Amino acid sequence: MATGKAAGKEARTREPGGPPPQAGNGAPRPVDLLVTGATVVAFDDAGTVIADGAIAVEGNRIAWIGSAREARTRFRAVTVLDAIGQVAMPGLTDCHFHTAQQFLRGKLVQLSRTQTLKMPPWRNYYLPYEAMLGEEDIRQSGLCAYLAMVSVGTTCFLEAGGPHPDAMGEAADAVGIRGVVAYSTIDADDSVPPSMRMTTRDALRRTESLVKRWSKHPRVRAWPALRQIMVCTERLQVEMAALAVEHGVKLHTHLAEGAYEIDYALARWGQRPAEYLDSLGVLGPHLLAAHSVLLSVEEMELYVARKVAVAHCAFNNYHVGVPRLLEMIRRGVPVGFGTDGAGSWGPLDLFQVAHAARIGQQLVHGTPNHYRGVVSSEELLAVAVRGGVRLAGLGDEAGQLAPGRLADFILVDAGTPDQYPNHDPMFTLASASTGANVRSVVIDGRVVMRERVFLTIDEDEVRAGLDRHLPALMKRFDAAVG
Ligand SMILES: [Zn+2]
Repeated sequence: MATGKAAGKEARTREPGGPPPQAGNGAPRPVDLLVTGATVVAFDDAGTVIADGAIAVEGNRIAWIGSAREARTRFRAVTVLDAIGQVAMPGLTDCHFHTAQQFLRGKLVQLSRTQTLKMPPWRNYYLPYEAMLGEEDIRQSGLCAYLAMVSVGTTCFLEAGGPHPDAMGEAADAVGIRGVVAYSTIDADDSVPPSMRMTTRDALRRTESLVKRWSKHPRVRAWPALRQIMVCTERLQVEMAALAVEHGVKLHTHLAEGAYEIDYALARWGQRPAEYLDSLGVLGPHLLAAHSVLLSVEEMELYVARKVAVAHCAFNNYHVGVPRLLEMIRRGVPVGFGTDGAGSWGPLDLFQVAHAARIGQQLVHGTPNHYRGVVSSEELLAVAVRGGVRLAGLGDEAGQLAPGRLADFILVDAGTPDQYPNHDPMFTLASASTGANVRSVVIDGRVVMRERVFLTIDEDEVRAGLDRHLPALMKRFDAAVG
């Protein structure tokens, strides 16, 4: 697995960041965590790969990367992770996630066996479900969801918005994942369940206080979120965007996700959804528009001009239309990947989202023109890593294994039969690895999962809690939508 770039990086990594790697008296420098023996895939601009590498961590930051041989003499660590046969890479960011929908995996498919589903699902199933959830339901959903995410290498998530976001934050705090929580705000449309509706004033007040309340947490933040244009007033959308700008965060929403939404916008405002939001002044780099599938030529121009951020949810988007992901990436639209949560149509595994996006984009941009190499797996895995942290507002802080960056990284098994032979670790990661190959996860300098065992929280206890909680909850859901 050795590559020619290893020696160069070793020399380079002695220079930047932090105090000298060795104490002045020649004694090994104390660090909190040392990972040794891994093939380090740094995801930096130089494409650095270090065979038999090491990562030293102090506090919540990477202090040094280099060769394992050198690290053994330079550092004395409180915790050592032996990662021989594994690949170290930065963690992945889920840029569009619904914590509240964690227990809906497969529920709609199950329902469809006995009834004709009402479309769109978000309106007919997800909103009624979210409306009946209490704080404890959300806490349980959060524990289950965040454990699941960490187990497949996700180190950060951006919540789309749901009820009881403080309970999401508490669950994220307990599991040790990094993330952003949000209210789902809806202030229009009387047909929406009352517990999901707020007055405009209340939605703004509660959101601002949530954003402030979580602004000092080491890993968890809160952002404003809008459900989508059909259930939010103009005033709410305009003032939420202003709130996002004021607090230096993003405003998360769903956009261009269904034909019904476009028909509604054209009938009501004579404009398509993105044109309508632009006329309100809501489009901008502060907007994170999940899905963004059904865009006209003019709307794509607006995305490029306003630098609207996009969460591409491959497992859902290809049901909706023909997503022009590659065009967005090539034209400088900030893009990350999302799973859309367990209630959607796919796994919570961003490796698999990247795989699906590659096949989808090959079909959209390549195959019709007999052009085979339209986008590489490696480029799309980089979107999941570096694109994700950029959307999270951590573009300069995380997303690379380099001194001074946040210690958010994962160790992926490279020696299992499905990963062997591993001639090119980056290619294998991008084309053959999935979340199931992730062995250990470090977030904010803390080992959250070690050799697939959680160190922050008792997984069996969470499971036992679910076994007690879930049957009654699902009975209520069946009664509400059946
Ligand atoms: Zn969504």
